[in-house]
Amino acid sequence: MSDADIAVVGLGVMGRNLAFNMAEKGFRVALYNRSVERIDEAIALAGPLAKNLVACHTPEDLVAAVKKPRALLLMVQAGDAVDETAARLQPLMDKGDALIDAGNANFHDTVRREHALAEAGLAYLGVGVSGGEEGARHGPSIMVGGKPEVYARVKPIFEAIAAKFQDTPCCALLGTDGAGHFVKTIHNGIEYADMQMIGEVYGLLRRGLGLTPAEIGDVFERWSEGPLSSYLVDITATVLKTVDPKTGKPLVDVIVDSAGQKGTGRWSAIEALALGAPASSITAAVEARGVSADRALRKTLSERFPGAAQPLTLAGNREAAIELLEKALLAGKILAYTEGFAIMSAASREYGWKLPLAEVARIWRAGCIIRSTLLDRIASAYDQTPDIESLVLAPGLTPLFEGAVGALPEVVAEAFRHGHAVPALSAATSRWLALRQPRSTADLTQGQRDFFGAHGFGRIDAEGQHHGPWSQSE
Ligand code: NAP
Repeated sequence: MSDADIAVVGLGVMGRNLAFNMAEKGFRVALYNRSVERIDEAIALAGPLAKNLVACHTPEDLVAAVKKPRALLLMVQAGDAVDETAARLQPLMDKGDALIDAGNANFHDTVRREHALAEAGLAYLGVGVSGGEEGARHGPSIMVGGKPEVYARVKPIFEAIAAKFQDTPCCALLGTDGAGHFVKTIHNGIEYADMQMIGEVYGLLRRGLGLTPAEIGDVFERWSEGPLSSYLVDITATVLKTVDPKTGKPLVDVIVDSAGQKGTGRWSAIEALALGAPASSITAAVEARGVSADRALRKTLSERFPGAAQPLTLAGNREAAIELLEKALLAGKILAYTEGFAIMSAASREYGWKLPLAEVARIWRAGCIIRSTLLDRIASAYDQTPDIESLVLAPGLTPLFEGAVGALPEVVAEAFRHGHAVPALSAATSRWLALRQPRSTADLTQGQRDFFGAHGFGRIDAEGQHHGPWSQSE
């Protein structure tokens, strides 16, 4: 019977939980997975929700189970798996049916896939979903890219399952083709920077000020009641206060210090470079994960060049130092968000998406991993001035930033002086210091370029391009 409202293909962590979320909201969901045993496992796990689920053991059964025009949502591994699954389903679909890729696709792939399917008369949506397993099950943030008429068909389902911020669904159509996946990529880029900065401040509290993980957990818990209030700060407190049942040690101390990554952080940095919109702290965070993963080299170098990080003398006493670190983290976080939104703004111009940045901030206020109170201020900033040059100039953000940014160079300088690595905080600091100086050192760069390449330079006292009297100087 063709009575399912939607199909979910891919019943891993995300797909299964999204399907359960849809079933709970009263939608009838057809299920399929490449490894068929996972289909029955999902039905068994669904409990009473199973009445809204239709187990389909072949792609043919799946397509037959869904109402026309069909909406088939893929939640499979990003990359080749999406092309392989689309190729398997495409011949079974009718014109007007829609494929929806809800995984973490590279937006270039989404643009390519949308165009290829359009040629076959099929519709496509590229959808970023954030919030992990818990979000997928109880309310993710959903970033949609595609044609409005295609989105309109699944909008009631997406709005029903999305997280709610004060009753408003955290779900929106953000632009055509790859817009949703691009915004999800930058969301993850900001997430990398935010997590890295939190990690660096944790390192300073731990190895610089000598606090225990549990004490640092208390510090983060306190901070989560102030302007740093966010999901990531909350979970940091919980992780740091968790004790390993096997050893009785703080759990963080038995976790291998090598960070994984799946690509979205790296894509953020690559796209930002291609757009000429710097991603200093995001790039630093991606590289820091790379350095963490090179454990063998770190071991060799730490043995060949010994010298553990030394205690900090920051601010004279512990409480003042903790306050300074809170401010540095806040300033770093504001700069990371500023960077992320500037990249989206540049992409919006380049790809003609007209990204509604206030809406992006609004749908990130609940459900997603970087949800934080700061996003409310960012949404207001873009509501008031949609083309604002830099977020730190927004009236709702400037006072907060001004009160915190002084701590950033102080903390970074002190960290370096005592041998602590703070790559994301220092990248944000350097970029900030460079941006707020009226005269840069590019006058010399331009002189050098003209010297070896006759590239010419502008003069401050005359129009046009000029060359230096280099032959007279040699
Ligand atoms: P997962 O638990 O590892 O499940 C992967 C799914 O992809 C399985 O259903 C698997 O089928 C299917 N698959 C893999 N290769 C395939 C292929 N060649 N052909 C057909 N199906 C294939 O992954 P997940 O965490 O649910 O992630 C799914 C997507 O959501 C990814 O794009 C991921 O980046 C994105 N995402 C994940 C999270 C998260 O927190 N986990 C958050 C947001 C977005 P089999 O069972 O047959 O192997």
